[in-house]
Amino acid sequence: MICTLSPLAVDEPTQAIERIEVRICDLFGFYLIETNEGFDFTRNKAEAKVFDYHEENVVDLVTQAARQLGVQWCLDPVDEGLRYERCDVCKGRWALSEVFYTKGAFLCEGCCPEE
Ligand SMILES: [Zn+2]
Repeated sequence: MICTLSPLAVDEPTQAIERIEVRICDLFGFYLIETNEGFDFTRNKAEAKVFDYHEENVVDLVTQAARQLGVQWCLDPVDEGLRYERCDVCKGRWALSEVFYTKGAFLCEGCCPEE
């Protein structure tokens, strides 16, 4: 599978003002925390750093991590109602883990091109 990154999509530009809180975790279920030295990971979800999705440019952060460190991070919205993502092709709503971000589009597994 080539595309496992799934940042949140915001349907309407007007919703961008709304504060969306997310945690960042890796594919092993470790959560990103902020330390004096920078970033670290923890198993303890309660310790996870909560990012402001828009203010802190979470998508940039995740994209940079993928590019510079070769790691794949996932977003875990604090608000459970945001755990769904719309596929840009079939417009269906899917759990975040089932939607992939690739080449600038959000795609569900069915619409995600095979490698
Ligand atoms: Zn789809």
